[in-house]
Amino acid sequence: MKSINEQYQVTDEQLDAATRFVNSATNEVLYIVMSATEIGLEYKVTWNRNLSRFACDPRCCANQHGLCCWHIRSALANEMLYRQAKRDEVEAAARIAEEKAEYERLMMVPSTRYTEAEIQAAQKRYAPRPFSILKEATSSAKPLSAVMSLTSAATAPGGSHPGSWRRLPILHS
Ligand SMILES: [Zn+2]
Repeated sequence: MKSINEQYQVTDEQLDAATRFVNSATNEVLYIVMSATEIGLEYKVTWNRNLSRFACDPRCCANQHGLCCWHIRSALANEMLYRQAKRDEVEAAARIAEEKAEYERLMMVPSTRYTEAEIQAAQKRYAPRPFSILKEATSSAKPLSAVMSLTSAATAPGGSHPGSWRRLPILHS
């Protein structure tokens, strides 16, 4: 794809020389383009609705000779860049709205609810305890059956392990 400079035959300096203005009452767009040769001289490039094209300032010499001066080319290039930026903005806004909706859908998933007993058991289990080798040794020496039942409770589907997902009970009234 051609660059905007190539497409409109303008340099970066010429692109930067133009500033977009919009009349808030009529929505008319005009560009003020700084002269490259005369400091302080500004050309007014206006949109001609009847001709559907930009027209340069009457003081512009290049334009008087029937040429499409760089002021007009710069205004055109800037207008294209402006419209592309607007389109990108709309796309980004739509994407953000989509992501927000997706997030809200996800947040509506019912959360896992813990019973009071499960919360208390977890609080007890994860509460800080003073470290003692003797205590650790005795507590780890659980009978095998106790270890087995703990493991199966944690892995069984619908088990009461607080970290696992559970199917919510269906209430029959
Ligand atoms: Zn001009």
